[in-house]
Amino acid sequence: MKRKLFWNSFLCAMVVLAACLSVTVLAVFDYFSQYNRQRLEEEAAYLGAAVETEGGDFLETVDQDATQQRVTWIDADGTVLYDSEADAASMENHSQREEVAQAWESGSGWSVRYSDTLATKTTYYALLLTDGTVLRVSGTEWTILSMLLDMWPSLLLVVALAVLLSGLLAWRIAETIARPVNEIDLEHPDENGVYPELRPLARRINAQSRQIKRQMELLDQEHQRQDRMRREFTANVSHELKTPLTSISGYAEIIHEGIARPENVKEFSGKIYDEAQRLQSLVGDILELSRVEDLGVGMEKTAVDLYPLCEEVLRRFRPQAERREIVMELKGTHGIVQGSRELLGEVISNLCDNAIKYNRDGGSVVVTVNPLGDRVLLSVADTGIGIPEADQGRVFERFYRVDKSRSKAVGGTGLGLSIVKHAAAAHNAQLQLESQPGQGTEIRLIFPAGETENDDNCERA
Ligand code: ADP
Repeated sequence: MKRKLFWNSFLCAMVVLAACLSVTVLAVFDYFSQYNRQRLEEEAAYLGAAVETEGGDFLETVDQDATQQRVTWIDADGTVLYDSEADAASMENHSQREEVAQAWESGSGWSVRYSDTLATKTTYYALLLTDGTVLRVSGTEWTILSMLLDMWPSLLLVVALAVLLSGLLAWRIAETIARPVNEIDLEHPDENGVYPELRPLARRINAQSRQIKRQMELLDQEHQRQDRMRREFTANVSHELKTPLTSISGYAEIIHEGIARPENVKEFSGKIYDEAQRLQSLVGDILELSRVEDLGVGMEKTAVDLYPLCEEVLRRFRPQAERREIVMELKGTHGIVQGSRELLGEVISNLCDNAIKYNRDGGSVVVTVNPLGDRVLLSVADTGIGIPEADQGRVFERFYRVDKSRSKAVGGTGLGLSIVKHAAAAHNAQLQLESQPGQGTEIRLIFPAGETENDDNCERA
C-alpha cells in the first residue's frame, strides 16, 4: 500500500511539475516576443517620423549599437536605400519581401524568419512612409529550443531538485496515509481516531474475525466431541465384548477342569451358548453399524417398495411375537423410496424387534407404509413400556439403553436404533420418535421423494 501511495504521489508531483514548467517557459517566452515586437514598432514609428521630417541622412546619425536593431530603408520600387548592417548598393531588390509587400498594401507588415539551425529567429517590421518608401526594423532573438539548450545545466539542476523534493514529499505522504491504516486496532475498531471512515470496515473485519474464531471453536468442539465419542465407543465395545467372554471362559473353565457337577454341565453349557449368541449378535451389530456409517452418500440406491419389504420382515418376526401373544399388523399401501433394500430391511427389522422386545404380553405392533404427497412414511408403533421423556433424545446413541438389564435380558445390544439413525441419514430420511411411558412408542421415518439434502435427519416429535 505504502509503495503504491508513494509512486502515485510521486508521479502526480512530476506531472504537475512538468506542466507548470512548460506553461511558465511558454508564458515567459511569449512575453518576451510581445515585448520585442512592441519595441520594433516603437522604433520604426520613431525612425519613420524622423526620416519624414529630416530625410534619409538622419539614419546615418543613429547609433546602431544603442538600438541593437537592424534598420533598412527601402525605396518605393524595392531598391534598398540604406541598411545599418550592410552596403545598401550591393543588396538585392526588396520588393518581394513579405513584410515590405504587406506594408505597401496595408501600411505596415510583419514577418518572422528562422535561422538554418533554428537557434535564432528574426522578426521584421516594415512601416510605409508617406512618400511611398518603407522603413524596416528587425531584431533577432533566441528560439525556445535554443533557450532550453542554452539553459540545460540549470534546467537539469532544477529538475533534479524537483525530483528529489517530490520523492521526499511523496514518501512522507505515503507514510502519513499508510501508517494509521497499518496501525488500526481491529480488536477495538471504534478507537481508530485518524480515519473515522474506516471504522465500519474495521468493525466488519472485527465481526468477521470473531465469527471465524467462533466457527473454529465450534469445529474444535465438534472435533473433540467426535474424538470423545470414538473413545467411548471403543471403551463400550471392549466392555460389551468382555462381559460375555468372561462368562464363557469362566463356565468353560469349570467344565474343562472337571469341577462342575455332572447335573450342572447342561446348565453351564447352555449359559456358554447364550453368551456366545450374545457375542454373535453384538459383533454382527457392530459390523452392521460401521458398514452403515461408511455407506453415507456413496450408497448405491434403487427403487424399493417398502410395503412388500415390511410384509417379509413381519413374516419373519411373527413366531417371536406369537410366543408373547403380540399381534402384528401391516397397514397402508405401496410406498416406493430410493435406497438400499438390504439396509431398509435392517431398519424395519430393528424397529420390529424393539417393538416386540419392549412390548407387553398380549400387546400389538402396527407397521404402516403410507405415501405422504411426494414423500413416504414408514411407521412402527407398539403398545409397550414406552420411553421416558428424559431418555427419548438419547436412545439413538450407541449402546444407550434405558434399562440395561432388561435390554440384556431380551438380547438387546444397544446398537439397533443407532443403525436406524445412520440408515435414515444415508437415505436423507427424517426420523421422529413419539413415546408415552406405559402406553407405547411410535418411530417414524419420512423418506424424501427424490434426492434431497437433509442434514438434521433426527428429530423428536
Ligand atoms: P437394544 O438392542 O438395547 O434394543 P436399541 O438401540 O435398539 O438397543 O434401543 C436402545 C434403547 O431404547 C433400548 O435399550 C430401549 O431401552 C429403548 N427402546 C428402543 N425401542 C423401544 C421401544 N419400542 N419401546 C421402548 N423402549 C425402546
